[in-house]
Amino acid sequence: MRVQVICRGHQFYREIELLLSLFFEPLYVEFLDGDGNAVKTFGDPDTAGLEESLKAVLQFDMPPRLAASAELTGDTIETPITTSYDVESDADDQENRKRAKQVVSHVLLRVLEEATGLKQPWGILTGIRPAKLLHTMRENGVDPQEAREQLQQHYLVKPEKVELLERIIERQLHAIPDLYRLQDEVSLYIGIPFCPTKCAYCTFPAYAINGRAGSVEAFLEGLHYEIQHIGSWLKERGLGVTTIYFGGGTPTSIEAEQMDALFDELSRYIDLDRVRELTVEAGRPDTITPEKIEVMKKWKVDRISINPQSFTQETLKAIGRHHTVDETIEKYRMAREMGMQNINMDLIIGLPGEDRTHLAHSLRQLDDLMPESLTVHTLSFKRASTMTRNRDRYQVSGREEIDAMMKMASEWTEEKGYVPYYLYRQKNILGNLENVGYSLKGKESLYNIIIMEEKQTILGLGCGAVGKHIDPQTRKIKRWPNPKDPGHYIERYRDMTAKKLNDLDHLYKILSETS
Ligand code: SF4
Repeated sequence: MRVQVICRGHQFYREIELLLSLFFEPLYVEFLDGDGNAVKTFGDPDTAGLEESLKAVLQFDMPPRLAASAELTGDTIETPITTSYDVESDADDQENRKRAKQVVSHVLLRVLEEATGLKQPWGILTGIRPAKLLHTMRENGVDPQEAREQLQQHYLVKPEKVELLERIIERQLHAIPDLYRLQDEVSLYIGIPFCPTKCAYCTFPAYAINGRAGSVEAFLEGLHYEIQHIGSWLKERGLGVTTIYFGGGTPTSIEAEQMDALFDELSRYIDLDRVRELTVEAGRPDTITPEKIEVMKKWKVDRISINPQSFTQETLKAIGRHHTVDETIEKYRMAREMGMQNINMDLIIGLPGEDRTHLAHSLRQLDDLMPESLTVHTLSFKRASTMTRNRDRYQVSGREEIDAMMKMASEWTEEKGYVPYYLYRQKNILGNLENVGYSLKGKESLYNIIIMEEKQTILGLGCGAVGKHIDPQTRKIKRWPNPKDPGHYIERYRDMTAKKLNDLDHLYKILSETS
C-alpha cells in the first residue's frame, strides 16, 4: 500500500508510521507538510506495490483545545472518510505534546478502521507495555472507572483488552502489594550468553557453547568480577535485592560446578534468604541434568523455565531447536520429581507451518504436565533473526488463524485455572497481538512483573544484560546495556562495572537525600 499523508500543524511522523504499519504490509508512506512539500518517506516504494493508494490529511490545532481532524480518500473509497476529536489543553507543555500526538493518532486510527474494516485491539497504543499506562493512572489516583473510560474513549483500546489489563494489574498488585514502593531495593538480571545451538527466530545474545570452553571460562571470570564489585556496593549500602533472574542464552548451558560457583559468589554479598524470588531459565531441555537441578535445589532456586515452544517435532527441527519433544517432557518430569515446585513453560504461537491443530496438540500435552506458569508468545519477525533474513523459507499462518490460536490458548488457560499476570507487545508481532504470561494463583514471576512495569532499578550483569536504572526523583530510566558478544564483554567488563557503579553512586545519593 502507498499512502500519502499531509501533516498540517504537526510533525508526528513516527506515530503515523506505526499506526499505518498495523494496517498495511508492505507499506510506503510519503509525508508532505501543510504547503504540500515532500518532507519524509517511509518504507520501500518498489515493494509497496502500485495497485492501491490512500491519501490522508491530518490537521492539528491548539489552543483553546487540542483538536485534530482527519480526511481519508483513496482508490477504493467512494466518499471521503472524515472525523475529528479534541481534548483539554490545560496541562504543561510536555504533557500537552503527548496529548497532541494522541489526538492525531486517535483520528487517524478511526478513519483507517472505517476504511479497512480492521479493528485494532490496542487502539492507538503502539508501545510494548500497555499495562504500565494503567498502573500510572492508578498511581496518580485516577478512579478505576475513569481509567477504563480513558482507555476506551481516548486511546481506543477495545473493551476485551481493557478487561485483560485490569485483570493483569490486579494480579500483579496481589503478587507484589508494594509494587509502587520498591525503590529502596533493586533486582538483578544475570545474562549467560550460551546455548547448545542457535534457534532460527532468536535475537537474544546466544552463542553455541560447543568448542567455546575458553571463552566460557573467560566470560565467567568477568561475571564473577561484576558480582564481586556490584555485590560489595550493595552490601556496603545495605541495599536489599528483591529478585534475581538468570537469563540468556540458556544459563543451564554451563556446567553444574560453574553454576554452583556463581551462586556461591552471589551468597557472599547478598542474603539470598531475603531475596523474594530466584529464577533460572533452563529453556533448552537438552541442557538440563540431575546435577544442575541438585545445584539449583541447594541454592533454593524458586522458579525455573523449561520451554517446549511447540510439542511438534517437525517444528522444533524447522526452527533449529535440536532437542526432541520427548526430551522436554522427560526433563520436565525429572525436575518435578527432584522437587522443583515452580516450573514455567513457554509456547510460541505462529511458528512456521503451525496452525490450530498443532496448538491443540501442544495444549493436550500441557494438560498432563500442568506447569505452574505458561507464557504464550506470538512469533515476532525481529530484524536480526535467521528467520527474518530468510522470510520466504518460513511459511506462517495469517492474521485470522493467529488470532484464533491466541484465543484458543487463552481459553485453555482459563479452563485450567491460570490467570494472566503480565503482558508485553513487540514490534512485528504477527497479527499485532501480544505475549501473555499466565500463572496459577500465587505462582506469578515477580521478576517479570517488575521488569515489565518498570517499577524498580534492575542491575544487569553478564553478557547482553540490559540494566535499567531509575532516577528516584524524575522516574527517568537510563538503560545500561552490557555487550552482547562474549569477546567484547571480556574486553570491557572492568571498565563497564566502574561506570555503572558511578551512576549507581549518583542515584543512591539522590535516593538518600529524598528519603
Ligand atoms: S534457546 Fe532461547 S536464547 Fe537460546 S538460541 Fe534458542 S531462542 Fe535463543
